[in-house]
Amino acid sequence: VNVAVLKETQAHERRVALVPVLTEKLTKLGARLHMQSGAGDASGLDDSGFDDVVIMTDRTAMVGAADVVLAVQAPAVAVVDAMQEGAILICFIDPAHDAVLLERLLARRITCFAMASIPRVTRAQAMDALSSQAALAGYYAVLLGATHLPRVLPKVTTAGGTIGPAKVLVMGLGVAGLEAVATAHRLGAMVEGYDVRPDTAGQIASLGASFVATGVDATGKGGYARALTPAETTKIDAVLTTHIQQADLIITTAAIPGHRSPRLISKAQVAGMKMGSVIVDLSAEGGGNCEASVPGETVRVGGVSIAAPLNVPSRLPADASALYARNVFNLLALMLKDNVITIDWQDDILAHTAITHAGKRVTPKATTPQK
Ligand code: NAD
Repeated sequence: VNVAVLKETQAHERRVALVPVLTEKLTKLGARLHMQSGAGDASGLDDSGFDDVVIMTDRTAMVGAADVVLAVQAPAVAVVDAMQEGAILICFIDPAHDAVLLERLLARRITCFAMASIPRVTRAQAMDALSSQAALAGYYAVLLGATHLPRVLPKVTTAGGTIGPAKVLVMGLGVAGLEAVATAHRLGAMVEGYDVRPDTAGQIASLGASFVATGVDATGKGGYARALTPAETTKIDAVLTTHIQQADLIITTAAIPGHRSPRLISKAQVAGMKMGSVIVDLSAEGGGNCEASVPGETVRVGGVSIAAPLNVPSRLPADASALYARNVFNLLALMLKDNVITIDWQDDILAHTAITHAGKRVTPKATTPQK
């Protein structure tokens, strides 16, 4: 089975879908590995470090001979057009926002697996790229916030006096939020967390943080959140505004599957924040949790710095690639045995993750995410 690894072409994408530690495992399953020259460069992985991998400079030739193509982002249309009919593509792809590519995948009869569609069930955890990448983003958000703050996070005692710890508020306590809480706590900040799912209170208590209780429970299907009613928003704002005003650093990570990012901080609330305080909005891809966020930029509104970075995992490309490549490997290992690809459509993970197969759109079956 010929497996081809693409060099990413999207701006600011520094990850790669294969790391050297996995080549032996893939070869044992029967893969003949090919990689585009320089694919690992931005992750600090030189071509020479990939044993048992044929390094190719001609992308079209590499892709044309491949049974499986691995990538991080959705590839260019030219890549899909160069693929063999019926070959497999594994990457992050959002068919709802890429109609042209979807049409080509169907026309070329490509079996495409979308990494963001891995079901959130226990057996699929080792393939859950959304979670692995979100954990890194949560960590990075705290460090990014710290560099914008005019003060330190921990309590610092000197002969001349003591500085108290900074107050950090993390809004949205999913995978990224919990990692942000843990990171801020390790750096010595006083950490508070908030989520519309009250279940998260116990989770952050074990990380040394306190929960801001608002009396609203918006736990939705499968452990995700549901959208709030206007009355609930008013009730929450009344409690949260004080905590927003007292925070030195706020990290927001709130998301509702299938919706734009919920608005957690209004412009009026930003105006009430402390001079020099910082917001790091991790939901820039979905439009942002703060009304004043500008996706992809860091802006100053009054005395408040608001960073809304895009593709945060890509800023930690070595670890993000290592985890993503392992997620992809674990998915591929479900299909690749003894040098043969067999797709078991009864397997929930494969059936749920595929978006196209044999010229048809595969509609995901409902699976229930677990905590
Ligand atoms: P997510 O990225 O969808 O959302 C991030 C957080 O934002 C969630 O905790 C959500 O409750 C919160 N949120 C939404 N609207 C909000 C609002 N208005 N105010 C405050 N917070 C708001 O979440 P995620 O990180 O993907 O995790 C969601 C759930 O899925 C969690 O319970 C997590 O433990 C679970 N999960 C399960 C698996 C698995 O079983 N394999 C894997 C990953 C996550």
